[in-house]
Order: sequence, then C-alpha cells, then structure tokens
Amino acid sequence: MNTKVWIVDKNVDNLESNPQIVDAANFLRENEVVALPTETVYGLGGNAESDEAVAEIFAAKGRPGDNPLIIHIADKEQLSRFVSEVPRTAEVLMDAFWPGPLTIVFNKKEGVLSEKATAGLSTVAVRMPDHPVALALLKSCGLPIAAPSANSSGKPSPTSAEHVLDDLNGKIAGVLDGGPTGVGVESTVVDCTEAVPVILRPGGVTKEQLEAVIGEVRVDPALTDEASKPKSPGMKYKHYAPNAPLYLVSGTRDFLQRLVEEKEREGLSVGVLTTEEYVNQFTADVVLACGHRAELETVAAALYDTLRRFNQLKVDIIFSEMFPNEGVGHAIMNRLLKAAGNKIIGE
Ligand code: AMP
Ligand code: MG
Repeated sequence: MNTKVWIVDKNVDNLESNPQIVDAANFLRENEVVALPTETVYGLGGNAESDEAVAEIFAAKGRPGDNPLIIHIADKEQLSRFVSEVPRTAEVLMDAFWPGPLTIVFNKKEGVLSEKATAGLSTVAVRMPDHPVALALLKSCGLPIAAPSANSSGKPSPTSAEHVLDDLNGKIAGVLDGGPTGVGVESTVVDCTEAVPVILRPGGVTKEQLEAVIGEVRVDPALTDEASKPKSPGMKYKHYAPNAPLYLVSGTRDFLQRLVEEKEREGLSVGVLTTEEYVNQFTADVVLACGHRAELETVAAALYDTLRRFNQLKVDIIFSEMFPNEGVGHAIMNRLLKAAGNKIIGE
C-alpha cells in the first residue's frame, strides 16, 4: 500500500475545508485508516463504527485484540449516539478539560460501535483532542474515530509524522503531517462509571488537576502494584520500549556514570538518558538530553523522540535517570518503567 503524506499547517484558518483534510476525511469515510496529529501523540484513526476499519487499525499496529481503542469526537453531542449514561463527574470533567488530554470511560450503548473497537467491553473510552487538525478532521468526516497511538505495538509512541512513517509506512492509507505534537505523553484515562472516578492510566492531565474540579479521585492499584490486574486492558502490555534494554537508575549521577563505564569495559555501546541540566556530566557513547528536569512538561514532550533516537544511534544498552513521581512526572515514570520492563538499578 502506498501511504499518502498530507502536509497541513495547523495555523491555517478554516482547516475543515482545507483540501488535505477533506481528502483524509474521505479516506476515513471509506473505512481506510489515517494517522493524525493530536496534542498528545499521533493517532491512527479509523471509523469506530466499522469492523473493517477497526480491524485495519489492529493489523497495522500489530495490537493485541483485547486492548480497546479510545474513541475521538469533535463535539459532545456525538456522545449520546454510543454512550448510555453521562455521570455528573464526567460532565464536570468534560467542561473543565475538553478538548484536551483526558479520556473518560463511560458505559456503552450496545450495537453502535464496532465490538472490536471496545474489545467486547460494556464500557467505552472517549476523548476530544485539543489539536486544530484533529478537530477539523473529526468535524469533516462526522464520524466517531477510534484512534490508538500510531506506532507499531510495543514501540515508543509517535510524536512526529516521521515516527509514524518509520513504523507504519506502506501499512496505512495516509498520514496528516501537522508537525511535532505538544504534550508528548498520552491522555490520562479516568473511569467515571464508578462513584469515585479512578485513574486507569496517568497522562497529560494530572491527578491534582482532576481533584481540583471533582474532589476525590482514586488511582487503579495496578499502576503501583505489579501483582494486581489493571482495569485498563492495555496497561498489562510492555510498551514504549526502545530496541536496546533500558534500565532506570536510582542513585547519584556518579553511580550512573560508573554503570556506564562498567558496560563500556565489556565492549558495549552505552546510551544515557538525562536532561539538559546534566548532559555535560556524563561520558558515554551516546548522551541524550530529554528536556529540562526543572520543567517536567519538556521531558514529557521529548520522551518518545529520545527513546527512538537511541534506536537510530544503535546503542547496546541504555541507562536513564529517574524523575519525580508527581504531576506530569507520574506519566513520565509510568512510561519509562514500562519501556524498561520495570528494571531499576539501585545504588
Ligand atoms: P492507546 O490508544 O494506545 O493510547 O491506548 C488506549 C488505552 O486506553 C489502553 O490502555 C486501553 O486499555 C485503554 N482503554 C480503552 N478503552 C477502555 C475501556 N473501555 N476501559 C478501560 N480502559 C480502556
Ligand atoms: Mg499506544
């Protein structure tokens, strides 16, 4: 399959009638799959009401069939078509955070969406992305669009159209290239079907931000306890992994440097993931700065690109600094731990 690339300037007025967007929307209406920029990462979109389109998404990504997709909408009115009930907490969260990096799990109306999209669950995860190109595309096609991250399953999520093409060129109908994404980590997933909402996946909206508008929010115990079964099926899979084994290092920078030297003596090419503040403190084959530690949003924005750059530079092993587990650091640490298969080396 020849993958089309549509370059779109997200700052153009009236994107909806832009010919690239109209072309991509036509592909979606014909049940083809198309990658699109969102404010978090690039998504791989397909008509959520079509088994054919949804099957294409799973096939292109090599995604396990029991991992449901997030449904993207441009307008709250679309919810009533496939959601059976909108709880009060969800109303408040939508008003506060949509469009934005917050996915809400609702009870589902049966028989509307493709069963494959929700992996046969009685619930459905929905969000409204805060990106002019994504919103224009959703409005133009008028369909609920199922869109997981547009990477091969298990790889770091894509934050640029180049990342999408590295993984999916030839496997999808097209990609709308709207430049690099902003937040850099995926949306927060919050289950509003329970009396007290539960965070199933940390992401772009923090627990503190949610609590400021709805009061108590719980966190799925599986996020911190490896032994419990996650309520979000996708959270059980290894994700975001670079090609080389990745270890998170808990301890001083001197300790991390000693680990590097030990592996270099064994003849390995070693990579270090640090931040701008400390990039000159390490000596290794490849030392990459992933944003500024003082502003964790910049670490989130650069994280997946940094993990993918280690692949291009072909290191044999990667040591990474750890980050504070608070605010957006919660999402950063969740992704890094998954990318590392939970491997932490302590001093
Ligand atoms: P991705 O699209 O790759 O960002 O992953 C979507 C995440 O949302 C995965 O962790 C899914 O398991 C989760 N998800 C999607 N639908 C549901 C649902 N109905 N209930 C719980 N988690 C869901
Ligand atoms: Mg993903």
